[in-house]
Amino acid sequence: MMASVRPTVDSSVFAPQLDAAIQQGEFELYYQPLIDISNASIHGVEALIRWNHPERGPLQPADFIHVAEESGSIVPMGSWVLRQACTDFRSMRLAKGDLLLSVNVSTRQLDEPTFVSDLSDILQETGMPARLLQLEITESIFLMDSVVVGALFEAIRALGVKIAFDDFGTGYSSLSYLERFHVDVLKVDQYFVQHMSDGHVSTEIVEWIVRLARIVGTGVSAEGVESREQAAALLGLGCNIAQGFLYSKPVPLNEILAMLQHVPVEASGQRKAVHARPDVGWTPGSALYAMS
Ligand code: C2E
Ligand code: CA
Ligand code: CA
Repeated sequence: MMASVRPTVDSSVFAPQLDAAIQQGEFELYYQPLIDISNASIHGVEALIRWNHPERGPLQPADFIHVAEESGSIVPMGSWVLRQACTDFRSMRLAKGDLLLSVNVSTRQLDEPTFVSDLSDILQETGMPARLLQLEITESIFLMDSVVVGALFEAIRALGVKIAFDDFGTGYSSLSYLERFHVDVLKVDQYFVQHMSDGHVSTEIVEWIVRLARIVGTGVSAEGVESREQAAALLGLGCNIAQGFLYSKPVPLNEILAMLQHVPVEASGQRKAVHARPDVGWTPGSALYAMS
């Protein structure tokens, strides 16, 4: 077994390996459930990449995403992620019906002129319903020309695909962007969620983001929920979609499928009656939601 020491990140070693790793099937997608804490159901999943490196063992995105961004390998890698997530999603839908598939997309990928046509091809090839796909974009998109961003968002939304602002509140966006570029969801950065309970202004910031989302007519979700207190506070502020270690870490496909088979999911238009307990999480390791 590998020790828990993080591998030394060496761009010059990793960069040439990244493209080959796609061909050799060394990347894998893990999935973290997005929970609707108002009714204890799974609202969707976020795809998160892992690299099963042949010599170094399992690597986290922090070890290689920035190298891929610098080298440009993020473009073919991101395309692989989208295709693989849409492919994996077929078995998730079979297990549990409609839910949301949320996929991280880097600004470098969005800057490719073929991004929208590639996305459209992937939807067609995989049979992925566009309305169930959400792209998580960071506010660094606003380093791009705003006319280009406007056209890009319009083209993505014309396909029927949703857009979420990831890590909201930490980036480059100005409030005027929210008025000019319609997005579907503001995803409150985990920093604010994790500082909610320690007398920090984070609670007020989260409250403000929830209100802002209402003003501009978008949804809101939160990440990095680790405690029952945070979940209950989020629900109290009106943010009911949340993800975090309280519910589940990101897990491989077979484990998310097991969870989906055990937990009631919001079917379109139909809510299963459950005993809502926003303050309880997954029973660790059991893939069962503690409902009693
Ligand atoms: P992110 O998109 O903000 O994803 C959330 C990160 O927080 C994930 O780390 C997730 O495992 C972690 N997380 C979730 N819940 C909790 C919690 O309760 N507590 C704490 N402390 N952490 C939590 P991960 O999987 O290591 O991913 C890190 C980042 O790498 C992601 O941040 C995203 O920016 C990037 N990334 C991951 N997969 C992809 C991908 O397929 N494409 C692109 N472009 N970026 C990716
Ligand atoms: Ca994300
Ligand atoms: Ca995030």
